[in-house]
Amino acid sequence: MKLSKFTNVIEIENGVILHNAIYNSCVKVYSENCINIIKDLETNGDVNLDSNVPFIKDLMDLKLIVSNNYNEENVLTYYSNSAKRKNEFTLIVTKQCNFRCPYCYEDHTNDIMSWETYSNTLKFMESVLSVSDSKYGVISFFGGEPLLEYKNIIKFMKEFKSMLLKRNDDRIWTGHITTNAYLLELNMTKQLADVGINSYQITIDGLKENHDKSRYLVGKIGSWDKIIHNLEQIKNSDLNISLQIRMNYTVQSLKQMDEYTDFLIKNFNDKRFHFYFEAVKDYGVLNDNDDIEICRNESDIEEYVTNIARSKGLRLSIMKTFCSPFGIECYASNPRSFVIDYDGSIEKCTVLLNTDEKNIIGNVNNKNNYNLDIEKLSNWTSYNLKNVCKNCSVVGVCNGRKCPLSYESTEVIDDNYCGLVKKIYKESVKLNYV
Ligand code: SF4
Ligand code: SF4
Repeated sequence: MKLSKFTNVIEIENGVILHNAIYNSCVKVYSENCINIIKDLETNGDVNLDSNVPFIKDLMDLKLIVSNNYNEENVLTYYSNSAKRKNEFTLIVTKQCNFRCPYCYEDHTNDIMSWETYSNTLKFMESVLSVSDSKYGVISFFGGEPLLEYKNIIKFMKEFKSMLLKRNDDRIWTGHITTNAYLLELNMTKQLADVGINSYQITIDGLKENHDKSRYLVGKIGSWDKIIHNLEQIKNSDLNISLQIRMNYTVQSLKQMDEYTDFLIKNFNDKRFHFYFEAVKDYGVLNDNDDIEICRNESDIEEYVTNIARSKGLRLSIMKTFCSPFGIECYASNPRSFVIDYDGSIEKCTVLLNTDEKNIIGNVNNKNNYNLDIEKLSNWTSYNLKNVCKNCSVVGVCNGRKCPLSYESTEVIDDNYCGLVKKIYKESVKLNYV
């Protein structure tokens, strides 16, 4: 018998957790005898064990341990091929934004999605749904600032719903908007909820002083007061929606983490609000006048931030999915995930938007079967795993697809590349099971 190569042994107070990332199975072990068996398996690999002993039988049933000749590489390929990925459509409805955040890598041109492109997007979606057996779907609106186009979003969602009705399509859909929330007044939020927009990602970069340094309107006017007012109105309503509040942290804003998390707990301790923290990235657009210092040691800081948030009892949303099968894969690796750009380009990655030919796999406005290039599409979804990944204990959540864009071009897959994924996975196991 050996530990499954997808089993991770994670230390907790007075014991260990065994979690298998591919079977999503888990046990907590506190007895000294049992912990010794696990240590023996970790040290020696192959150990003779009596399958009639209840603890051993449980470990076998949960596939936390497997027989020596168990072919786990084939098992991984099987699950990867048969996993039911959600239908995911992301619409970039405008390149324009009312904000000018200094770390933003997007160009703010006046390009917006035409109604013809919205209509052709619906036809394209219908063709994807007609061959998809997944019961779940997400439709997301992204920009620039998508709420600048909220009237078209509402019109589109109404037509989308009638398309589903005509097709007798009873899939469960999430309607999602990534927004700076400046325009998200209660009345608009209600109208959007009526057409199925029930989920938001909103960024608040710390308390007022820090937030207004990095999230300002054209003309450098701060946005904190308006956004907090909008969110308080929503909190005081009975709208059944979910809001994920993201903080992009910097060296400066980290110094106020305690006060900021206290503020969130005091003002948004409501089950509709969830929180998520990520370091500001340097996309080469920052300059010295911006007074923004990037955090370098990202994986250690991630742990520090998560610990503060957890100790305050904040609901950490994304963490929950990070220990479920294929939970850390990027949506670009999902064969049923498509990004539709404002001009109708069908793309995979939201970082390379309209900038790289390998990302543009078709166009919804092209009458010839959308000019869909399956070879290009498959380069994002169906590439082979490198050997180091085949032997990685968190391959069941990451699958070498945390970022298909960087995977091929990264020569050495080591802790510099994967350290953060592994830490997030462990934190997620603890969050879910301790
Ligand atoms: S990229 Fe890193 S974390 Fe992901 S499967 Fe490969 S080795 Fe594991
Ligand atoms: S940069 Fe990587 S992780 Fe980000 S969307 Fe593109 S493929 Fe996904």
